[in-house]
Amino acid sequence: MSDLQTKVMELARRRGIFWSSYEIYGGVAGLYDIGPIGIRIKNRIVELWRKYFIKDNAEFVVEIETPLVTPYKVLEASGHVENFTDPIVECTKCHNVYRADHLIEEIAKVNVEGLKPSELDNIIREKGIKCPKCGGDLGEVRLFNLLFETNIGPYTGNKGFIRPETAQGMFTSFKRVYESFRQRLPLGIAQVGRVGRNEISPRQGLIRMREFTIMEVEFFFDPESPGEVPLDKVGDLTINILRGEEKVKGEKPVQYKLREAVDEKVILNPWMAYWMGVATKFVSTLGIPQSSTYFEEKLPHERAHYSKQTFDQIVVIGEDKVEISGHAYRSDYDLSRHMKFSGQDLTVFKKYDTPKIVKKKTVIINRDELNKEGKEFVKTFMQFINGKSPEEVEEMINKGVKVSDKEISKYVKVLEREEKVTGTHFIPHVVEPSFGVERCLYLAVLNAYKEKDGRIVLSLPKQLAPYDLAVFPLLERDELIKKAKEIYNHLQEKYDVIYDDVGSIGKRYARVDEIGVPYSITVDPTTLSDNTVTIRDRDTWNQIRVEIERLDEVIEKLFKGEEFNKLGRVVDNNE
Ligand code: AMP
Repeated sequence: MSDLQTKVMELARRRGIFWSSYEIYGGVAGLYDIGPIGIRIKNRIVELWRKYFIKDNAEFVVEIETPLVTPYKVLEASGHVENFTDPIVECTKCHNVYRADHLIEEIAKVNVEGLKPSELDNIIREKGIKCPKCGGDLGEVRLFNLLFETNIGPYTGNKGFIRPETAQGMFTSFKRVYESFRQRLPLGIAQVGRVGRNEISPRQGLIRMREFTIMEVEFFFDPESPGEVPLDKVGDLTINILRGEEKVKGEKPVQYKLREAVDEKVILNPWMAYWMGVATKFVSTLGIPQSSTYFEEKLPHERAHYSKQTFDQIVVIGEDKVEISGHAYRSDYDLSRHMKFSGQDLTVFKKYDTPKIVKKKTVIINRDELNKEGKEFVKTFMQFINGKSPEEVEEMINKGVKVSDKEISKYVKVLEREEKVTGTHFIPHVVEPSFGVERCLYLAVLNAYKEKDGRIVLSLPKQLAPYDLAVFPLLERDELIKKAKEIYNHLQEKYDVIYDDVGSIGKRYARVDEIGVPYSITVDPTTLSDNTVTIRDRDTWNQIRVEIERLDEVIEKLFKGEEFNKLGRVVDNNE
């Protein structure tokens, strides 16, 4: 863990942002509690995500909620039972278990993502990699399934899992949402919910957790006529892309205008490009500069089993590169599989603008001729002909095929007729943008962490701060407390405000700086004589003095981004 991460973990524990769960029992790796300050930041992140992904796209995106507990069959159909695995390797001496690919990457400094167990085995032997804990020999690499298993109800045969993604809830209820919403594509189904992944060796704070919250959109569209993609909303954004082929050569990400990336087929699907643009805007609202993010294309062997093209959105923070979101083109994989496993029709009917006249061949049996040959022949003949397509029958007639030495052409013919067809059934394709909330929280906090004159300041973007404002009486005097509470009660109606009258003012400022409150309002003895208060800026520690009656207006302007020092009388620090 980097120095910065260690400092952030310490701050997070001390200030109630997050900490290891079940601490009193020694904690469990990969499980975290989100504390009273953390939950406020997290909720704001989720609300921002809802704004960018759902509200701003309300004409075609809706939100649903589906269960955490998932029947075996659903994840069998989705391929997770078979494929949701990571490679592990066990020390033959101390029996410590490692994630094989990560161990090799750490020790041999090579990228081995997506390699088969046998290939990983070879590298371990070639490079002579031993157990980092005891130096013992490592056993054979095998695959470990990351699904948390459970039983549904009291019947041991009724196996289920905790879902590893919310996506399957959207696929299994696609038809219901489609029919109840607007029966039109494109249609995005969004969900925010908990998921569980039994990660092998979770470390690194909130980056690799065993239970976390995911925010996903499954976006369904017609691959032949994908509809009007609103690229005008994001097309001019410049994003950094590291293409698969460039990555192999060790190249760096390249800048593209999103629209160019679509035109040049760097991003295969324009809807996927659209959501990558939305994701870019969303990540910048977390305070993470666009220059430290890029989209990395996954190579075929690195992609999940369902994906035609995948980009990971990467945030570079210090030495670390962290995937903040995944963008997968899942094609019709999931719906096709669920159709097969459930036996239900999950296709969508597409009406043609004008009905099409199509020529259709049909097999016509000449019953009169056939019956003349007696029952035995009728049976043999029908067994032979049943299940064959008109085209197959036609070919057999042309070839003079016989049944019991009799040419079939005597008993059967194929006619071509014209039919009016009003539309066609098809399986929608899907692109999926998927964010982990806690990763967003962690990266936003890491990015906001600053030190100023030996003190910590969490410079979160205003819209992510756990509170908008803090209100303090300078001293523990009744008149000051009374006035401060009046101001607090008033501001509470419009803002999230924290009130504190305990301890020295320096300590209180330090506390709100550490949790990222952008502005603090202080009532001091001067307030009582001239009805003014001070407002202090978290990042510069500058203070201005403003009349209480102007407070609402000034705060509004501050949140609109107006210059702090211009909104009141600047207080000299020696005052
Ligand atoms: P994936 O379905 O693996 O592409 O994951 C989607 C998103 O969930 C990732 O981009 C991360 O933001 C987040 N994520 C995945 N695995 C974890 C984990 N073990 N702990 C926390 N967040 C995760």
